[in-house]
Amino acid sequence: MNFALDAYLDELRPLIDVDCGTLTVSGIETVAGILTEKYQQLGWNIKQVDLGEAGCGLEVRNKPDAEQIDLMMVGHMDTVFPEGTVAERPMTFDDKCAYGPGVSDMKSGLLNVIYALRAIDEDVLDKLSICVCMNPDEEIGSTYSHGWLESVASEAKQVLVAEAARADGSLVKARKGMARYDIEFHGKAAHAGNEPENGRSAITEMAHWLLAINELTNFETGTTFNNGVVSGGAGANIVPDYAKIVVDIRFWDNREYEAMDEKLKSMTETPFTKDITVSISRAAHKPAMVPSDKTVNLMSVVEESGNELGIEINWKEVGGGSDANLTAAMGIPTLDGLGPIGGGFHSSDEYLDLSSIEPRINLLKTVICKLANA
Ligand SMILES: [Zn+2]
Repeated sequence: MNFALDAYLDELRPLIDVDCGTLTVSGIETVAGILTEKYQQLGWNIKQVDLGEAGCGLEVRNKPDAEQIDLMMVGHMDTVFPEGTVAERPMTFDDKCAYGPGVSDMKSGLLNVIYALRAIDEDVLDKLSICVCMNPDEEIGSTYSHGWLESVASEAKQVLVAEAARADGSLVKARKGMARYDIEFHGKAAHAGNEPENGRSAITEMAHWLLAINELTNFETGTTFNNGVVSGGAGANIVPDYAKIVVDIRFWDNREYEAMDEKLKSMTETPFTKDITVSISRAAHKPAMVPSDKTVNLMSVVEESGNELGIEINWKEVGGGSDANLTAAMGIPTLDGLGPIGGGFHSSDEYLDLSSIEPRINLLKTVICKLANA
């Protein structure tokens, strides 16, 4: 492959220099438009999927009429950054790295997939039916896109996700599951001076919950709870009739998580204080991605490819979730981290390791060729 870093960065820049945080639909549409053009040039079939408030997803296939998908690839078009970020810090680069919102999470991953596909001979590609799905809401737990992704995945034999490789070059074979809940407390307001005894404090009930939820954490099994956001109360002189917690749960063991889900729901039936009602709703859920026997086969294809290219392949189990969790939970062999190397995700320190771009395109290309010739 003739790889020109300058040309790559020229293609990357318009994908970075657009505010496209989740739900910033105009930016997502810009990114989708750029990607659509690139896949059109490849001659692939492109379907825009309407995902409501989140904007659109792209479903791109080389063989739109194939019954089964030999290889599904997944990537996301959104970032975690609010509007205005690009004006503050557009894409820049130095000798070693490129910087900017989403540079490694995961605009360069999306571009690496395209570069790998461009570099594969047509007669090799012709042996595989490939579907690339790009969603607009991964960073909020794929709330709008998971149904679509799962329905495409149900036809797929295996899945590769091109999120960035870890800073040390490792790929990802396991990811913790996650769930997010809104827990709301409704009490009764009363004047704090005149009749506090007639009030029922939603905040007091919430305080009991905060501590009880902390108690549920089990660092040994890795099921952990974080009371990440609390809100409530209208003024210091009013007994508060409303409060809310947003809880984030992470886990390796999907069954242990299901038990915790039941536990939280049952807790709402027995509030700690009288005359308080508690309601709970799950705002996001991604099951843990745990490798199966079939995943091990896919891993060995990646390892062989790495061997041939002189790229050391190491595997990591990581705490953060991705769309790989969704497909892995369906029992489909799934690996992640097939993008270039990067780090500092979700912060202004985010970087993309320039020297990793070409080798990781080659790695992805080689893996796809091996799957085609298998
Ligand atoms: Zn990502």
